[in-house]
Amino acid sequence: MFLYSIRMRASSSNVHVSGAEHLLTGDRIEEVLTDLLSQALSSYTTPDEIWVSIDPIEANSVTCIKSLHVRTIASSSCKEAHWTAREILESHGISLKVIERAFQLLQSGPTPEGTNMRGAIIMDVFTGERIEPDIRRGVRVSRIDYTEDARRHLEKELNDYGIYHKRVIDALGIATKVANKVETVAELCWSDNPDYTTGYVASKEGGYVRVTSMKESGSLRGGRVFFVNPEGLDLEQYIHYLERQPVIINRIGEIFPLLPSLGGRGLRGG
Ligand code: AMP
Repeated sequence: MFLYSIRMRASSSNVHVSGAEHLLTGDRIEEVLTDLLSQALSSYTTPDEIWVSIDPIEANSVTCIKSLHVRTIASSSCKEAHWTAREILESHGISLKVIERAFQLLQSGPTPEGTNMRGAIIMDVFTGERIEPDIRRGVRVSRIDYTEDARRHLEKELNDYGIYHKRVIDALGIATKVANKVETVAELCWSDNPDYTTGYVASKEGGYVRVTSMKESGSLRGGRVFFVNPEGLDLEQYIHYLERQPVIINRIGEIFPLLPSLGGRGLRGG
C-alpha cells in the first residue's frame, strides 16, 4: 500500500509566508489539497507563489510514534515568556550564551539578509554554532502526520482544555518528530505569523511546552532552532531523518491544563 507525502509552501517576493506537511492515503488527497490552498491564500499576506508536491511513500517504511505531552504556560508579557523559555532550555543543560544566540537569531531574522527561513536552524548545543548546510533555507521537517484516530483524539483533548488551534496540531507533529531523534536536546520555536504569538520549547523528556506571548503581536519575526548534541552526530543522516523518514503519530501524549502566569518568578518558584 502507498501513502502520499504532500508538502505545501507559499512565498511572497521570495519570502516564506506559509507551509504545511502531510502523509496520507490517496483518497484524502483532494480534501487536503483544498485545505492547503485555503491555508496558503489566507496567510497574513497574499502569496505570489504556491508550491505543492505529492510523492508516493511505501507504507512499510513508516515509523509510528506517540506525540509529546502538551503543557501551556501563560505569560503576561513577552519578557516573562522569554524568561520562562530560557529557564526550560537551561534545565536541559544549555548554556545562557547559546540560548541568547538562538533568541537573537529568531528576533532579528535568521538569514544573512535578516529575513525568515522556511526551515529550521540546527545549532550545536555546546558552541551555538549553526551547522545546517544552507543558512538561508534551513532544514524543513517533512513526512509527518497523525492517523485519523489520533488526530481526532488530539482535537478533542485540545478543545476540552480550551487550547485548540490548527497550528498546535501541526507544530506538535513537527516537534514530536524532531524530539524523537536522540541527538536533539531541545527545540525553540515561535511563528512568523504576526497574529500568532504563542511559541514553544520542546524536548523528549520535557514534552511540548507552549508559552504564550513569545513575541509582540504584529511582529513578522519567527523561526525554529533545533539544539543538537554534536557528539557522534551524523549530520547528513540526521537531516535525512527530518526531511525524508516517514513518521506517523498513532498515539497521543497527555494534555495538561493551562498553567497561569508565573509572574516572572520562573519555573523554580521564588
Ligand atoms: P510557523 O510555525 O509555520 O509559523 O513557522 C515558523 C518558522 O518555523 C518558519 O518561519 C520556518 O522558519 C520554520 N518552519 C516552519 N515549518 C517548518 C518545518 N516543517 N520544518 C522546519 N522548520 C519549519
